Amino acid sequence: MKRVKIVATVGPSTDSEEAIEELIKAGVDVFRLNFSHGDHDTHKKTIEAIRKCSKKLSKPTAILQDISGPKIRIGQINGVLELKKGDILILAKKKLNNDRYTVSVSHPEIVDFIKEGESVFFADGSIRTTALKKYRDYIELVVENEGVLSSRKGLNLPNSNIKISAITPKDERDLEFGAKEGVDVVAVSFVNSKEDILKAKEILKSYRASPKIVAKIETKKGVENIGEILSESDGLMVARGDLGIEVGLEKVPVIQKRLIKKANAHAKPVIVATQMLLSMVNSPYPTRAEVSDIANALLDGADAVMLSDETTIGKYPIKAVETLVRVILETQGIYLYYKKYDAYNDDAIAASVADLCKGMSPRAIISFTASGTTAKNIAKYRPDVPIYAITNSEDVLRWLSLVWGVEPFCVMKGVKDPETYIEKLKEIITQKNMFEKGDKLILTMGSIIGREGSTNMIRIFEV
Ligand code: PGA
Ligand code: MN
Repeated sequence: MKRVKIVATVGPSTDSEEAIEELIKAGVDVFRLNFSHGDHDTHKKTIEAIRKCSKKLSKPTAILQDISGPKIRIGQINGVLELKKGDILILAKKKLNNDRYTVSVSHPEIVDFIKEGESVFFADGSIRTTALKKYRDYIELVVENEGVLSSRKGLNLPNSNIKISAITPKDERDLEFGAKEGVDVVAVSFVNSKEDILKAKEILKSYRASPKIVAKIETKKGVENIGEILSESDGLMVARGDLGIEVGLEKVPVIQKRLIKKANAHAKPVIVATQMLLSMVNSPYPTRAEVSDIANALLDGADAVMLSDETTIGKYPIKAVETLVRVILETQGIYLYYKKYDAYNDDAIAASVADLCKGMSPRAIISFTASGTTAKNIAKYRPDVPIYAITNSEDVLRWLSLVWGVEPFCVMKGVKDPETYIEKLKEIITQKNMFEKGDKLILTMGSIIGREGSTNMIRIFEV
């Protein structure tokens, strides 16, 4: 059984129903919709296709809406610009004339903030320039390396502390759309502080929606403020694309380890993202370095790994997912299960379940978890046995598809007392023929089944 989860971004290569079905069968647990691309109509169709396939295959699958945030992009370029070292590029508040070397920018106000001598990077840092001279409505940049620039590529200011709100007017419209469509998770880009998360929650609340919130950590500020961000978010994404440019590539592996460790200790799922299998966009085989990177992310403690270009525009989306599955299955063989934490009150049941597992090696843990918290807390201890989650809400079941080691098992509604619950559970287990006679299971539940925060019992059950 695969313990680590797979997030796949849907795009032109995969937005058909057939492709989505294939991806789920191959092992995708969560689908990401990237709102930097595509219109609402396209996203709506994708959401319908995912829900349909998930139902058909009886596989709870979460939908993660990734809002684009203040990603600064350049405007339209006619064709492509082939730049050489020493070329002068003009970044203008708006397109001044038809000079090919003049490019506009999605947030014109940034032109005022760039100082002479400051670095300005384009296209994920593949083209680096330095600000040479400032004018009222534009700035001259000198190109530092050869490269090709095309329309709508990203722009980064790695040395600047200019502040653009993490939630743009476009994001607000996208949040409204996501709220109405009932997405399960919202990923907020360029989170710098807990205020960014609170703002997203407030907007969602005004549409009476409360999806889970994943904070994408991709700025220096986000890394610095990780403590307060984690206290407000439900999960994290190590967004290595922008992070690499903002902090310097060599810092990414260490930051990745730190962020994962923090998220693990708070029992909040953490996704490692970007370029995990980039070479598979064009090749059916990954590189050694990519496979090693995936294995190391898993050993760091990631709950999930994510595919972006590999599944949106790649030629081998299914092969990329199959590669992740193989690396996950192989690597979990040497995973250091049973993490130690200083157990605290609201975590005592989970800590005890993990302790019991170590001693008695049950076949499975079956947790009735109304809010998902008990299942997540048990997963925090990384037991060596599957954690089946039963809950009374479809939303919670889908959300748990992102959590390490948790199998979103089924929804059971209307059961209140533990004895009736156990009778029902026996029926399901028998019907599904999941275990063998004599197998031991560890059950967790509350004295009132289905009430949030009520888990106070551990039962050992023999099939
Ligand atoms: P993006 O986020 O793909 O939305 O930019 C991920 C990253 O920056 O790594
Ligand atoms: Mn990003």
